[in-house]
Amino acid sequence: MVIAAVLLLLNTYPLLVSEDLVFRSKASTLQSSVSVMVYSLSGLERLTEENVSAAMAVVEETGISRILVTDSAGKVLYDTRETGSAVGEYALYTETVQSLLGNDAFTCSYQGGAFRSRASSPVLYQNQIIGAVYAYEYDTEQAALLQGLQENLLRLSAVIAVVVLALSMVLSRALTRKIGRLLTAIRQVREGAYSHRAEIPGRDEIAQIGQEFNSLTDRLQKTENARRRFVSDASHELKTPLAAIRLLTDSILQTEDIDAATTREFVADIGKEAERLSRITEDLLRLTRLDSGVLDPPARVDVLPVLEQVMRMMTLVAQERKAELTYDAAGECTVLATRDEIHQVIYNLTDNAVKYSGTGGIVQVSLRREGDWVVLSVADNGPGIPEEDINRVFERFYRVDKARSRSAGGTGLGLSIVSDTVKKRDGSVEAANRPGGGAVFTARWPWKGGEAQ
Ligand code: ADP
Repeated sequence: MVIAAVLLLLNTYPLLVSEDLVFRSKASTLQSSVSVMVYSLSGLERLTEENVSAAMAVVEETGISRILVTDSAGKVLYDTRETGSAVGEYALYTETVQSLLGNDAFTCSYQGGAFRSRASSPVLYQNQIIGAVYAYEYDTEQAALLQGLQENLLRLSAVIAVVVLALSMVLSRALTRKIGRLLTAIRQVREGAYSHRAEIPGRDEIAQIGQEFNSLTDRLQKTENARRRFVSDASHELKTPLAAIRLLTDSILQTEDIDAATTREFVADIGKEAERLSRITEDLLRLTRLDSGVLDPPARVDVLPVLEQVMRMMTLVAQERKAELTYDAAGECTVLATRDEIHQVIYNLTDNAVKYSGTGGIVQVSLRREGDWVVLSVADNGPGIPEEDINRVFERFYRVDKARSRSAGGTGLGLSIVSDTVKKRDGSVEAANRPGGGAVFTARWPWKGGEAQ
C-alpha cells in the first residue's frame, strides 16, 4: 500500500509541477506578445480593418497559432487564419469579453497532448477601450516533452513495482516458511513430542526465536522427565511399605491360632512401615512446597541457637547409636532465611552423618563465618561416598546403598530437601570425602550482618 501510494505520487506530482511551470511560462510569453501587439495599436484613435492590418504587419508572430483583433463591440477586424477567417464576425470568447471590459485575460489548458493557451488584452485610446487583441497558441512540442516524462515515470514505476513485488514475494515466502516451521514445532511440542526441534536456518530474529524455543523445549523435556521419574519413584517408595503392611495384615488374618507375641511383633512392624510412609509423605510434601516456589518470608536468623537446639536432640540419638557428636561455632552467623529451614538443613545433614557412620562414629559439626558466607560443615568418619555418586546424592530418591538407607529409615529425599532449601536462599551445598575417610557436607548461605530478628 505504501509503495503503491509512493508510486502514485511519483506519477502525479512531477507532472503537475511541470504542467504548472509550462502554464506560467506560457502566461508570461503569450501575455508579453499580446502587450507588444497592443502597444503597436496604441496610437490609433479608432480601429479599422485597414489600420489594424497595417499596424499588425510589423508585429512578429512567432509560435502563435492565431491572432484576432476586435473593435470595442467584439467584431473581428483582423484574423491571422487564412481559411475560415472570422473577420466581420463577432468573437465573443470569454477572454475577449473580459478584455472589452478592461481586463487582461489568460487561460491555459493541457488536453489531448497539447497545451492550448489563450491571452487577451484591451486596446486603449485615451483611457477608452477601443478594441481587444486575442492570441491563441496551440503547442504540442512542450506537451510531447511532458508526455515523454510521463511515459518514463510510468516505465520506472512499472520496474519498481515489479522489483518490489518480486522481492516482497520472495521475502514473505521465506518468512512464512520459517514461521510455518516454528508453528509446526510449537504444535508438535504442545502435543507432547518434546524431542521435536524447530530447524530454522539463518541468523535472523525468527531463527533466534527458533533457538530459544528449542532451548525452552530442552528444559521442558528435562522437567517432564524429572517429573515422570519423580512420580514413578515416589509411587515406588510408597508402594514398598504399603505392600509390607498388606503382607503383615494378611499374615495375621490368615494364620490360624496366631499367638499374641507374634501378633504384637507383626503389628509393631506395621507401625514401623506406617511411620516410614508418613516420613516419605512428609518429605514429599516438603519438596512439593519447595517446588511451588511459595516460601515463607525470610528474616535474619542467627544460626547458632538453632544449631544448639538440633545438637541437644541429636546428641541423644548419637548416644543411642553409640556415636559421638561434637560441634563448634565461631563468628556472628546471621543469614536471611527461616528458623525452620535452618533447622531442617542441620537436622538432615547431622542425622545422615550419625546414621551412616554407625556404631563408633564420630561426627563433627562446625559453624563459622567465611567472608560473606556463613558455612556449616558436617563431617563424619563413616564409609564416605563413592566418587561416582558424589554429585548424585542430592538427586531425589538417590541412594548409594538402597538397602542400607532403607534399614536406617532413610527416604532418599533428605539431601534433595537440603539442597533445594539452601539454594532457595541463594546458598549452596556440596558433598566431599575426607582424606582420612568419611564424608563431609558443607552448606553455605550468604551472610547478612545486623541484628537477628
Ligand atoms: P536417605 O534418606 O537415604 O539418607 P538422603 O537424601 O539423605 O537420603 O541421602 C542420599 C544418599 O546419600 C544416602 O542414601 C546415602 O547413600 C548417601 N549419604 C548421605 N549422607 C551420607 C553420609 N554422611 N555418609 C555416607 N553416605 C551418605
